[in-house]
Amino acid sequence: MQYDIIIGMEIHAQLKTKSKMFCSCANDGEDKKPNTTICEVCVGHPGTLPVINKQAVEWTILTGMAVNCEIADFTKFDRKNYFYPDLPKGYQISQYDLPISLNGYLEINGKKIKIIRIHLEEDTGKLLHPQNANYSLVDCNRAGTPLMELVTAPDITNAEDAKNFCQEYQKILRYLNVSDANMEKGQMRCEANISLQEKGRWKKSNGEIKPLGDYKLNPKIELKNINSFKAMERAVNYEIKRQTKVLNEGGRLIQETRGWNDSSGKTYHQREKESAHDYRYFPEPDLPPLILTELKEKARKKIPELPQAKAKRFITEYGFSKIDADFIVIDENLADYIEKVISEFSKKTQSEIWETHREKIIKLVSTWIINKLSGIIKAENSDISKIKITPENFAEFLALIFQNRINSSTGVKILDIMLKQGKDPSDILDSGDFEQIQDESALNKIIEKIISENPKIVKQYKNGKTSVIQFLIGQAMRETKGKADPAIVRKILIKFLTS
Ligand SMILES: [Zn+2]
Repeated sequence: MQYDIIIGMEIHAQLKTKSKMFCSCANDGEDKKPNTTICEVCVGHPGTLPVINKQAVEWTILTGMAVNCEIADFTKFDRKNYFYPDLPKGYQISQYDLPISLNGYLEINGKKIKIIRIHLEEDTGKLLHPQNANYSLVDCNRAGTPLMELVTAPDITNAEDAKNFCQEYQKILRYLNVSDANMEKGQMRCEANISLQEKGRWKKSNGEIKPLGDYKLNPKIELKNINSFKAMERAVNYEIKRQTKVLNEGGRLIQETRGWNDSSGKTYHQREKESAHDYRYFPEPDLPPLILTELKEKARKKIPELPQAKAKRFITEYGFSKIDADFIVIDENLADYIEKVISEFSKKTQSEIWETHREKIIKLVSTWIINKLSGIIKAENSDISKIKITPENFAEFLALIFQNRINSSTGVKILDIMLKQGKDPSDILDSGDFEQIQDESALNKIIEKIISENPKIVKQYKNGKTSVIQFLIGQAMRETKGKADPAIVRKILIKFLTS
C-alpha cells in the first residue's frame, strides 16, 4: 500500500526576557538553587494578581512578523485548566482562540510550510525524581517563564524537512535575539505529529486532515523528548518505518505519545492519548485583553535581515556557494565577521584586483574562515565573537596568502599565533622565519641538490613515470621547512628534468 506521510510541528520556545511572564521574578532560574526565583504570583498563591510582561508580547509579535504571520489587533489570555504536580496554580495561563500571531509560513526546501499560530503562555515547574526515593521533588524556578508556542499545519512530508523547519526557526529566534533556543537545555522543544494515510483517500481543509468517503483516518502519533536536530530527523524516519510496517502487516495504530531513545535509535510508547482533553478554557479574569496596534508598529521597525535573506545576499553579492552561505548564516556573528573581513580586504586592494579576482578571494575566505577558523573555534567550544583576531588583521592575513607571500602550511602556523596572541600577521611574518621562498636562484640550488641525491627517481621520471615529481616537490618542501612556493618548485623541477 502507498501512504502519504503527514507531519505537523509544535515548537515551544522559552523567551529570554529579564523577568517572568506575569511577575517580576528573574527569568534565569535554570541553574539556580531550586525554588529560589519564585514568588507568590508564579506559584499561584490565592489572592495574587498577574501582570503581563510587555517585552514577551512584543517578541511574540516580532517572531510572528519574521515568519510572515498576520498579527492580531486584539488578543487575550485564557486559563487552561488541568492538574499536574508541576503546575502550581492548577491551571496554565495560555491563549486559546485569539493568539497574537496567526496564518504565517516558512519556506523550507522550496516548499511553503503554513504556520497556523504563535501564542504566548507560561512554562511549568520541573519535577525531579531522586534515585531510589519514594517521593518526587518540585522545582518552580521555571514556572512562569514566558513560553511561545508555534503550531504548523500538517504540511511537512519527510523527516529532513521536519528537521530543517526546526533549524530555520531556531536561527530566526536567535537573529531576533528573543530566545537562546538551545534544544539540549529545553529552551526550544520540538514535537512532531506524524500520521500515514492511504494515498487519495484524504484531503486537507483549514490545516486539518479529513477523510474522503468511508475512509477511516489512521491516528496521529505525537513524538516528544527530542533534544537535537539530528534526533528529530532520526525519530521521524523511525516512526515512518514503524507505522508503515504496522499498517502493511494489517495491524492497527493507536493514538499515542511516543518518546525517543537516542542510544537505541527507537521510539517508545509513553502514554495513550484518550479523546481530546477538556481543558475548560475560559478568559483569564485577572488580565485585561490587549490591543496590539501600537506594539505592531514598533515591532515592524525592529525586524533585522533574516537568515534566508542573508544567505541569498551572500550568494548574489559576494558569490558564495549555497552550501557556504547556508553555513555562514547559522551564526549571525560569523556572517558579520565575514562581511567585515571582505570589506577590509577590498579596502586594502585596488578595485580592479578585487573585481578580477573576486572568485579567488571568496574562495580564500571560504577556506580560511569557514573551514579552518570555524573548525578551530568549534573544537575549542568557543565563539567567533570571542576570538582575538580583528577582521582587519584577518583581511591582512588573507592578503598575504593572496599575494603568495606565505603558503598554506605557513598560513596555518601564523593563524595559530594570531589566535593565541591576537597579533598583526605582518608583524608575525617579520619577526619569524615564515616568508615564502619565491626567489628562483635560491630554489635552483636546493633543487639541483635534490636531483643529484635522487638519481633513481630522476630516471623514472625520464622514463615516463611523471607522477614521481610529487616526491621531488615533497623533498624540496622539506628542505625549505615548508616555505617554498610549490608552484615555482614544480616549474623549476620540470625545467631541470626535461633539459
Ligand atoms: Zn514570580
